[in-house]
Amino acid sequence: MSKTLTEMAAEIVTAQASHTGMSAEEMNEVLKKTFLALRTIKEMEEGVGAAEGAAVAPEVAGVTGMDPKKSIRRNKVICLECGKEFKMLTNRHLMKEHGMDAKQYRKKYGFTARQALSARSLTLQRRENAKERNLGQILKDARKGRPAAQTDAPAENKKKVVVRRKRKAAPTPDIAR
Ligand SMILES: [Zn+2]
Repeated sequence: MSKTLTEMAAEIVTAQASHTGMSAEEMNEVLKKTFLALRTIKEMEEGVGAAEGAAVAPEVAGVTGMDPKKSIRRNKVICLECGKEFKMLTNRHLMKEHGMDAKQYRKKYGFTARQALSARSLTLQRRENAKERNLGQILKDARKGRPAAQTDAPAENKKKVVVRRKRKAAPTPDIAR
């Protein structure tokens, strides 16, 4: 905050006075009240911030002493509650071992809601898989009517089936677009 509370209060009261035509005395009174109100707000803000900081900091230091950001690495994610290493930190582990869910865990260690609690390589891989699944779904929709055979067919036949299907399915997505 670059302005002082006094400056802010003065600005607010001046703006108000220009509309309502207050006397000097009234302005003085309003200025005091405004200043006090602003100070209360500021104290509340600072108070809340300090309390949050105090709640999080000792636990982070106490368990693993690790910067939460460093717990998510290329090939593993480290549970900040117990220091165990995972490919992916699951709700099941957090619930069973630490009595919290992923949402609470993220909040506690300052992760955003979108932060994946898994090794970075795995996160990337899953993103790619999701893309492929989307593509797969499009193809599946395109070849609807003959869905089951694929998984039951022996490996060699499967190849043929896939190739044949691809050829058959090919024109459909173009139409769909
Ligand atoms: Zn753990």
